[in-house]
Amino acid sequence: MTSIAVCPGSFDPVTLGHLDIISRGAKVFDKVIVAVLNNRNKQPLFTVEERIELLRQTTADLPNVEVDHFNGLLIDYVKQKNASAIIKGLRAVSDFEYELQMASINRKLDEEVETFFMMTNNNYSYLSSSIVKEIAKYQAPVSDLVPEIVEGALRKKFAFSNE
Ligand code: ADP
Repeated sequence: MTSIAVCPGSFDPVTLGHLDIISRGAKVFDKVIVAVLNNRNKQPLFTVEERIELLRQTTADLPNVEVDHFNGLLIDYVKQKNASAIIKGLRAVSDFEYELQMASINRKLDEEVETFFMMTNNNYSYLSSSIVKEIAKYQAPVSDLVPEIVEGALRKKFAFSNE
């Protein structure tokens, strides 16, 4: 049986921390579907299409990684994709409480789907998309935090918004 895992998130934009989780997950599962959450409550910097494109380009070297998007309940999307697992990254204790709640709810909704947590690579434990956006907004370098192409996309976004 093929093992399929969904790695959900906002990815606004994708960081080296995300890519670390995605590439490690891709070593364990036959297929990893990176699913961009189309969350209308949040005001994103990048559109879903832009986030997908950046993810596609930065995971192009991982043949068993697919990029997609979803609306609504994660668990419904997971079933629709015939996946049996959800992969999440844990950075700090602060992530834990929320993730425990999500994993418990998802298990209640469907006992067949397991959530797997991966500890962050120590180098990226402080890294989040919000921090990256905050730094890039002030034109400071983010080359240690995101792939080059994402850095370029950020520069372009903020160049326009600062005009
Ligand atoms: P954020 O906006 O906080 O960066 P996302 O919603 O895009 O996060 O996150 C998607 C998933 O990636 C979540 O499971 C999150 O915990 C994980 N993640 C994000 N950044 C890191 C990191 N630096 N190390 C490990 N996991 C991470």
